[in-house]
Amino acid sequence: MKRTNRVLLIYTGGTIGMGCNKKTGALEPLDFSHLVDNVPEFKHIETEIDTYQFSPAIDSSNMSPKMWAQLVDIVAERYELYDGFVILHGTDTMAYTAAALSFMFENLTKPVVLTGSQLPIGQLRTDGKENLMASIELASAHHQDGTPCVPEVSIYFNGHLLRGNRATKQNAEEFNAFDSFNYPHLCEAGVNFTFNEHSILKPDYTKPMIPHREMDNNVIVFSLFPGLEENIVKHLLDAPELRGIVMRSYGSGNAPQVPWLVELLKEAASRGVVVVNVSQCITGQVEMGRYDTGYQLKDADIVSGYDTTVEAAIAKLMFLQAKFKDADTVREYMKKSIAGEITIPEQG
Ligand code: ASP
Repeated sequence: MKRTNRVLLIYTGGTIGMGCNKKTGALEPLDFSHLVDNVPEFKHIETEIDTYQFSPAIDSSNMSPKMWAQLVDIVAERYELYDGFVILHGTDTMAYTAAALSFMFENLTKPVVLTGSQLPIGQLRTDGKENLMASIELASAHHQDGTPCVPEVSIYFNGHLLRGNRATKQNAEEFNAFDSFNYPHLCEAGVNFTFNEHSILKPDYTKPMIPHREMDNNVIVFSLFPGLEENIVKHLLDAPELRGIVMRSYGSGNAPQVPWLVELLKEAASRGVVVVNVSQCITGQVEMGRYDTGYQLKDADIVSGYDTTVEAAIAKLMFLQAKFKDADTVREYMKKSIAGEITIPEQG
């Protein structure tokens, strides 16, 4: 594995670069110089690093599709200048950003690694330094033939490199903040990097990367639970701007057998609302034909989200809705893997 030498480090904010507000005692984002001052190791990295900082730096709870478009521009405008990109980002919405970027960079041929930390970089026990250093190495890691080891949007955290659109924040306390429950890790970082070659995307290096900036956020996530009230669901589905719903169903994609629910969903679907069925379980997939309680949803033109994460399903809907005005086309693409975000079971 040969190291190349140019990585762009984009700082959006997040705990990694935060410090204590003296008045409130709460953590708030600080600027990039604070981060650099706390990482003297920067001087020893062989990779040449340029930096770009969001101004102001944000807590990632304030992330938005507009800022995703800003990230797309920052990378796209400098795409040829760098071997890889590292995005420092708060952990709270990192999985949403990673999923969105995986769709917004079509035919990505370079690594885009998102990372952050659970403890600020200025604290003694910080996990930020290792996450940052390993991410920079991973963003510049190349094969003998010069192609990058991980040419996709990924999240690096606590020794694991995960596909960005398969990752979920799973822990607000421990250092292992993320996992990809339905997809193997792309790389394990121990004493050495162990890449899981078969699980890494293989882009077409003869084709250009195509950046997409538009997202249509007329979408909602809604969760089923025992006792769901008809009128409330009706009001939600009646919102005139609504174009897409990620419905978090039970187990392998099941819903209560109450006629009003299927009727309301059918009616919304006929008005052009795309409903995607995603399981509330973190592992496993939607199989609407498995139980009667799931089968009824097939009739209502509901699309299977297979083994997708909620984060990837919502970002994919936003991306497709911006691209296609017609609901059937959005449904067709929802059923396909665009950036490795779902595994479609073989028909048997
Ligand atoms: N609230 C922080 C953020 O997402 C948490 C973190 O960075 O871990 O920006």
